[in-house]
Amino acid sequence: MKRILITGGAGFIGSHLSERLLNEGNDIICLDNFFTGSKDNIRHLIGNNHFELVRHDIINEYLAEVDQIYNLACPASPIHYQYNPIKTIKTSVMGIINMLGLAKRCKATILQASTSEIYGNPQIHPQVEEYWGNVNPIGIRSCYDEGKRCAETLMLDYHRQNKVDIRIARIFNTYGPRMAINDGRVVSNFIVQALKNEPITVYGTGNQTRAFCYVDDLVDGLIKLMNCDYTLPVNLGNPGEYTILDFAKLIIKMTNSNSEIIFKELPKDDPVQREPDITLAKEKLNWQPTVSVTEGIKKTIEYFETVIK
Ligand code: NAD
Ligand code: UDP
Repeated sequence: MKRILITGGAGFIGSHLSERLLNEGNDIICLDNFFTGSKDNIRHLIGNNHFELVRHDIINEYLAEVDQIYNLACPASPIHYQYNPIKTIKTSVMGIINMLGLAKRCKATILQASTSEIYGNPQIHPQVEEYWGNVNPIGIRSCYDEGKRCAETLMLDYHRQNKVDIRIARIFNTYGPRMAINDGRVVSNFIVQALKNEPITVYGTGNQTRAFCYVDDLVDGLIKLMNCDYTLPVNLGNPGEYTILDFAKLIIKMTNSNSEIIFKELPKDDPVQREPDITLAKEKLNWQPTVSVTEGIKKTIEYFETVIK
């Protein structure tokens, strides 16, 4: 049995990871400030002797004896991370300094939830880990992108200077049950709009692309990465690329919806294309997604049907 700290454990991905690691027989400390996470996401775990819920903000120091740390705390959707951009960058930078300090003290392995956003609006496609990215340092997405880039820098510096055992997951768009209904991300927006027969809001022309990974696959990848010995960044995502317009049509079809598609202004600095190259994850982790987009979207639709009833 390992003692595992999961920051952001009451969030969308964090709640699935908490559940999975608890079921595998570990002792979990789930730490969250509930900015975008919710007790509802982990209510079914409360009461288990091996699950401890702590309300804490990672911009402040936290002390515990643990073997592994998954640092997931950070709002992930554009509307949430842009709500208080200064807090977002503090969460990424001060948060990872606190967590790396903890990892150093108790000799824990630490995994940082990084992101495909560190590639910005990529000029290399699909994105490989060697690519340094094309990020606007002063735009409205920068609080998130640059915060995550700085966190990666700190991870490597603590590794080189203090021998902290690190893992970096560059997570590409992930979806599934327990996404917050109001977080404005494309999967939750489109499914909820379609289920309510409301207009589907495609931003810009809809020609921009994303690749969508089901949360169970992502959780598998995170756990495999934590338990391997590779210390440089690894992309985790599902390589099938969709235009946002085609994705809207898929959701309308899968929900049997009467929704029409309407076009709205494209948010500033919205990346034009994004798709992971997962060769490295296949090689180092023996990992690749197993849930198809139609299978994963079906489960996500079933979840949102129960939420909006
Ligand atoms: P989420 O918003 O559902 O989860 C984030 C969790 O962190 C929430 O529970 C929130 O309350 C908590 N949190 C935020 N700031 C905090 C702070 N200062 N102290 C303590 N807790 C705090 O988002 P998610 O989709 O589950 O994302 C989890 C992690 O994965 C994030 O770090 C995100 O950047 C990263 N990520 C997610 C995706 C994706 O597509 N979902 C893609 C790339 C990276
Ligand atoms: N998007 C959209 N309509 C929506 C929400 C998002 O067209 O209602 C687009 C958004 O502009 C982006 C893509 O879908 O091009 C993915 O957006 P999301 O916020 O889910 O993630 P990210 O931009 O961080 O990849």
